[in-house]
Amino acid sequence: MKVAFFNTKPYDRQSFNVANEQYQHEIIFFECHLSHETVSLAAGFAVVCIFINDNLNAEMMETLAQGGTKLIALRSAGFNHVDLAAATKFGIAIVRVPAYSPFAVAEHAVALILSLNRKVHRAYNRVREGNFSIEGLLGFDLHEATVGVIGTGRIGAIFARIMNGFGCQLLGYDVYQNSDCLELGMKYVSMHEMFAKSDIISLHCPLTPESHHLIDSDAIAQMKKGIMLINTSRGGLVDTQSAIDGLKSGAIGYLGIDVYEQEADLFFEDLSSQVIQDDTFQRLLTFPNVIVTGHQAFFTSQALANIAETTLSNITDFERSGNCVNEIKREKAIASNAKK
Ligand code: NAD
Repeated sequence: MKVAFFNTKPYDRQSFNVANEQYQHEIIFFECHLSHETVSLAAGFAVVCIFINDNLNAEMMETLAQGGTKLIALRSAGFNHVDLAAATKFGIAIVRVPAYSPFAVAEHAVALILSLNRKVHRAYNRVREGNFSIEGLLGFDLHEATVGVIGTGRIGAIFARIMNGFGCQLLGYDVYQNSDCLELGMKYVSMHEMFAKSDIISLHCPLTPESHHLIDSDAIAQMKKGIMLINTSRGGLVDTQSAIDGLKSGAIGYLGIDVYEQEADLFFEDLSSQVIQDDTFQRLLTFPNVIVTGHQAFFTSQALANIAETTLSNITDFERSGNCVNEIKREKAIASNAKK
């Protein structure tokens, strides 16, 4: 099929060209984001392929439909950046990559925990400057620390397994209990109990209207003083201003984030020669106990290969049958039947 590929980075082009040797779709790579200004480039393309920071609203969906687009192929698991109701209205199917490497994201969450706890980011700079003082670098044993996991799906369960390996006590909060987590000894508790008992909380649930600003000033007030908060899921789960207030008061002792509410204007681009205009983001960077990475948790070679393979296979399924197991509408129907 003819695919308009937006938001192309060199690593995307490389992984998709390799995977496409098998599928032979006609891919045109555009470096620009999909936006109001660029949506006309997709005219005549049956498939539009986008990433998480290509926000696709109803107006753009209508333009795509008028240009003959039948399928949006997301190169991501999350789909909070796409107006699903508008897609249905304009007869456009949406497919996604539900899992490409849950290990990549879970391992990155652990990397943030270890770095924040043992202050690796500060030690790295000190040693390079010939400062071998260890004052201020005091950490704590992860062994027997209580770790709260919000969202115990694919990534949350792998994260729990790794933390179990450190000898942590596991608390879980989810709509459904995961048997793999129960086998590890995870105790499912209320959100309030998790906040009150956890030394570390890691977010692994999707961003939905219900989970928007799940971590706000009320939530932070219920947490153990000096909590370590990790977010590798979606920026909108955390109210950034509340997190800043929590860091200033000491309520939050450590913050590790790979995602940020307003990241679409920042992440994945080299802005090192520009003045960043987002004062909230800049304030976050001033804290010694905050580590921000730019949405790189997924970024492993295995994940890139899996994203390319699943995206192209989704497109082929759609071309052959008009159906795809990874179509979002279809996934929802299967999930709701399974729950009946
Ligand atoms: P998943 O669907 O396997 O698991 C999500 C879990 O969250 C499910 O068990 C679900 O029941 C639960 N959940 C839903 N709403 C909840 C709520 N309000 N409170 C608590 N739990 C809730 O998804 P996954 O593959 O584990 O991915 C989790 C999230 O990780 C994705 O939604 C995405 O936002 C994020 N992600 C981030 C990156 C990255 O690079 N930083 C990469 C991939 C995925």
